[in-house]
Amino acid sequence: MTAENGRVETSRRTIEVPPAPLAIVRKLHEQGHEAHLVGGCVRDALLGRTPKDWDIATSARPEEIEALFPKTVAVGKAFGIMTVVPEDAPPVEVATFRSDAGYADGRRPESVQFTNAVEDARRRDFTINSLLYDPASGAIHDTAGGQADLAARLIRAIGDPARRFAEDHLRMLRAVRFAATLGFTIEPATLAAIQAQAGSIRRISAERVRDELFEILTAAPRAGEGLQLLLESGLLAEILPEVAAMVGVEQPPEFHPEGDVFTHTKMMLDAMEPGRPLRLALAVLLHDVGKPVTAMLATLPDGTRRWRFEGHAPLGAEMTREILTRLRAPTALVDKVSHMVGNHMRFGDALKMRPAKVRRLIGAPTFEDELELHRLDCLSSHALFGVHDFLRQAHAQYVAEPVLPEPLVMGRDLVVLGLEPGPRFKHILQALYDLQLEGENDKAALLAQAPQVAAALAD
Ligand code: ATP
Ligand code: MG
Repeated sequence: MTAENGRVETSRRTIEVPPAPLAIVRKLHEQGHEAHLVGGCVRDALLGRTPKDWDIATSARPEEIEALFPKTVAVGKAFGIMTVVPEDAPPVEVATFRSDAGYADGRRPESVQFTNAVEDARRRDFTINSLLYDPASGAIHDTAGGQADLAARLIRAIGDPARRFAEDHLRMLRAVRFAATLGFTIEPATLAAIQAQAGSIRRISAERVRDELFEILTAAPRAGEGLQLLLESGLLAEILPEVAAMVGVEQPPEFHPEGDVFTHTKMMLDAMEPGRPLRLALAVLLHDVGKPVTAMLATLPDGTRRWRFEGHAPLGAEMTREILTRLRAPTALVDKVSHMVGNHMRFGDALKMRPAKVRRLIGAPTFEDELELHRLDCLSSHALFGVHDFLRQAHAQYVAEPVLPEPLVMGRDLVVLGLEPGPRFKHILQALYDLQLEGENDKAALLAQAPQVAAALAD
């Protein structure tokens, strides 16, 4: 490769490329085109990580790519982006070398120019994402110092960071996402440019912001560090002001020796296991989101003063619904996370609950995640696990049976008994069901108790 524009450092490495993308590169070479693997796959392979997808950059034009391979999809033909669909392997993106021109919307170039490999590498966001690998020769071409930054574990914008973030504001959040998921640091000038322009992230669509944020929460080895970086970059105050508001919200040291609400939340995020589900990660992030709003300094009978957060869980559930809806999260996810946030304080009372109530807690479809939320909450504060161990055991006991059995007594049975149908029915049925959950398995015995239950409820 020749450096038509700036310096190119070439070194040699062997990267194991899967057969399908390798065959595509070979075919392009045979036709006299330049072709390289590029971007995330080269970065990840050099880091010893498994690449998600194998992208190819080439001198071939979209029409040439189309003509060369039996099955292609023109995903962004005007921008030079084609997808080649191999017979029995995942699709491979094959993009023509280009430089982007005219960013008017702060997100996407209005047009592109087909250029050479060097310019194509220089238009990319970060140095570590701009490495080219030629599997035929084993050459790595580095136009921006990407290899040195990989070794130094740095996220550095290519060129002038201020200009690059002004072109495409999403890159600011990508910088944090790559730093968090790879465990890298953002290079100081790059970070300073983000801090200066953080406000423009509001011009990016909620869906793009959501995708990056969710990736940080689920894929970062330490998601709490990701949250800290979001805060330091200034992006958190723009995309999740409700979470930024947790900073400096003090808590009673006897329950929370670790510090303020933000520190507590970060610790929980850091303690999440790899492979955690998104709903758990979101519940962890948002479980105390109601605290800053409800914080009140109360005076106890002995005259000491203590921070209280009355009703922070139900309020947090509402705020969670609002935040996740704003981020265009799917409704089912919004419902689950909001339920978990609203319910999280109940777990603390499990030891005092009637068996039926415990059973209901355990029977909820979100129980496993709620229990993990509770465990992380304890781990990141007082480190007492009595409730957790009790619920784990109770759950183990119940898993052999259907978690919540069908109710033995139904509304029609009450009618047969001669009770007047009406709004009271729901309460009578609920009370009889509680008795069933507590061990009364005989329908006739339950029905025999119905008149008393009805009378008690009428009082
Ligand atoms: P991931 O592992 O998350 O897929 P990736 O580096 O492959 O990471 P993609 O979003 O798949 O990221 O993009 C592929 C490549 O395209 C990047 O490595 C980068 O070179 C370039 N790229 C993607 N988004 C941008 C952007 N907003 N601005 C400039 N270059 C970008
Ligand atoms: Mg990718």
